[in-house]
Amino acid sequence: MYDVVIIGTGPAGLSAALTLKQLNKNFLWLGSKKLSTKINNAECIRNYTGLISVSGKEMQEVFLKQIDQMGIEITEAQVTGVYNMGDHYGVLCGDMQYEGTAVILTVGVETVKPLEGELDYVGSGISYCATCDGFLYKGKEIVVLATDKEYEHEIEYLASLASKVSVVALYKEVGLSGDNIEIIKDRPLSVSKENKKMKMQFKDKEIEADGIFMLRSAITPSILVPGIEVEEGHIKIDRHGKTNMEGCFAAGDCTGKPYQYTKAVGEGNVAAHSVVTYLAEMKKKNS
Ligand SMILES: Cc1cc2nc3c(=O)[nH]c(=O)nc-3n(C[C@H](O)[C@H](O)[C@H](O)COP(=O)(O)OP(=O)(O)OC[C@H]3O[C@@H](n4cnc5c(N)ncnc54)[C@H](O)[C@@H]3O)c2cc1C
Repeated sequence: MYDVVIIGTGPAGLSAALTLKQLNKNFLWLGSKKLSTKINNAECIRNYTGLISVSGKEMQEVFLKQIDQMGIEITEAQVTGVYNMGDHYGVLCGDMQYEGTAVILTVGVETVKPLEGELDYVGSGISYCATCDGFLYKGKEIVVLATDKEYEHEIEYLASLASKVSVVALYKEVGLSGDNIEIIKDRPLSVSKENKKMKMQFKDKEIEADGIFMLRSAITPSILVPGIEVEEGHIKIDRHGKTNMEGCFAAGDCTGKPYQYTKAVGEGNVAAHSVVTYLAEMKKKNS
């Protein structure tokens, strides 16, 4: 069991990781080794303390160098669920599960809103994890909405199980092919369910399947962490980075505006310090 599991490798996650490393805590850092697309895509950053004017790519290089020099590891994983187990948290990443006394959520903010109707069918027709739920659709028809090429290996896995996969590809340069794969280049508007069949509506058409997979980089916080208190789409925290769930902390864009690097880094640092206090309290309580 880890002391802490940090979820998300943007600036908030990095700041939390650096702080925990310096404080000699046993933590697991889950996310992408490429850090955050929100760093890479920034053309010119002028408001980061101490850096006069840098591109996102330059900032990413410095971050990666710092991670390397501090001897911090990133475990490449997409977290699909964070569960409160009473005195610790279970963190699910497909078929892998990790445990931590505390968790820090630094998952950024979702720019894409859930489709109309989507949240009504979570777990009863809508899934966010190919490796967790794919086997439920063996020999069945599915629709997969994917926002990035990085999901293609998961789609191929689903295609190895399902009889037909309709891929709503919301990205360029689709590299998928297969007898049972159909590519749809259209924006979906809503989802619904009728007679046990899931339906996805577009401007001029509707497609039907047994299940729908939503493969996006960010999952709505309330789906990712059942029981978490959310306010206007953001995780509610106090000034110590505490959420409504004991041992669960959050930092960065996922907690609200302003969406800025310095705010993310500051909150990541605060959350890490709060976690250290929490761990000490837990230790005292259990001794
Ligand atoms: C084009 C662009 C330019 C910008 N320019 C500026 C600027 O000049 N100055 C400024 O201050 N701010 C700027 N911003 C905003 C800034 O990028 C964000 O405020 C900052 O990145 C927030 O950091 P974060 O760590 O909270 O979230 P993010 O950087 O979004 O990082 C979150 C990370 O968590 C990962 N993640 C999400 N869900 C999961 C999951 N379930 N499992 C594992 N990992 C997960 C994501 O993949 C991502 O790597 C810009 C943003 C964009 C998009």
